Amino acid sequence: MQRPDFLQKAIISHQLSKEEIVQLLGNPQYDQALFTAADEVRQKFVGDEVHLRGLIEFSNICKNNCLYCGLRRDNLKLKRYRMSPEEIVALARRAVKDFGFKTIVMQSGEDLWFTPERLKPILAEIKKLDVAITLSIGEKSFEEYKAYKEAGADRYLIRIETTDKDLYHRLDPGMSWDERKECLVNLGKLGYEVGSGIMVGLPGQTLESIADDLLFLQDMQIDMAGIGPFIPHPDTPLKDEKGRAFELSLRTMAIMRLLLPDINIPATTAMETLHPEGRIIALQCGANVIMPNVTEGEYRQLYELYPGKAALNETPLHSKTSIGARIEAIGRKIGTGYGSHKKL
Ligand code: SAM
Ligand code: SF4
Repeated sequence: MQRPDFLQKAIISHQLSKEEIVQLLGNPQYDQALFTAADEVRQKFVGDEVHLRGLIEFSNICKNNCLYCGLRRDNLKLKRYRMSPEEIVALARRAVKDFGFKTIVMQSGEDLWFTPERLKPILAEIKKLDVAITLSIGEKSFEEYKAYKEAGADRYLIRIETTDKDLYHRLDPGMSWDERKECLVNLGKLGYEVGSGIMVGLPGQTLESIADDLLFLQDMQIDMAGIGPFIPHPDTPLKDEKGRAFELSLRTMAIMRLLLPDINIPATTAMETLHPEGRIIALQCGANVIMPNVTEGEYRQLYELYPGKAALNETPLHSKTSIGARIEAIGRKIGTGYGSHKKL
């Protein structure tokens, strides 16, 4: 299909109006042109390397009650766990020494047990392995973020989820959109590489609001953007919602690549959950990062944000080798460095 003029211009200018974004999101006939454009921009700005990040899900305990998430505090069916500091460090060591990861991502619910006093020594220990550390542990004060930065954290992921404030406040009871945005600002001030992102296909979310989200992320000049489909969890209030918007998530991700051409964009696990080749397809529509799960044993099943989370039964070794082969099969190569955002 012929590329529409506005898309051709966006490849050069990295600008799209809200109306143009809505057109791209709502018209499958543009898909091929959009995905090829995003792939070209990805190739030009971040090359063919795919950076792998080893993901450790170290606690599924959460004080929050987000309506969409299986870890929400009111989900009493979920068996909760919290890894010990020794377990976390041992997993990180294995991920680095046995599997060669150059970045460790530490993710959890908002678990208040992990105070700076407890988390800082863990970060310091992992940092000795000569890796980049990404944290994804939710909303914290400026001082707490500062303490983690000083202890060795380099990057931080905190999705804004949606920029529709009414929708956000409906879905995240007791939380404040402005405070979440403030977290992004504070992380930037502290010199973190900042990752944000959204869920696509939330109940009540419109194409216009996704366009606003994309323009917001561009305006914030974030360093990484995680864009994933919302998948309803049976033990949450959103269990009967539709979600599962695979194509729309791909389009959103591809547009993100056009708007912020040199950032890191993961092919998300949620995409792989909806399609057996979801991450590989995403890598061909603008993504350049994969975060294989290196959490082991029962913990992996228990970090259940949504049902059917991809690769649940894989071992970390299998995750890495099978993904590595699939990356090479599409003519890409595994990144050898830390894979930081070029801007930095
Ligand atoms: N607790 C931290 C936070 O909320 O920022 C980090 C962990 S949280 C589980 C990571 C992300 O999972 C959230 O930002 C949200 O976008 C995503 N998530 C939660 N429930 C989901 C669902 N049902 N479908 C898809 N993604 C989901
Ligand atoms: Fe907790 Fe994060 Fe899930 Fe919200 S999305 S309930 S903060 S783990």
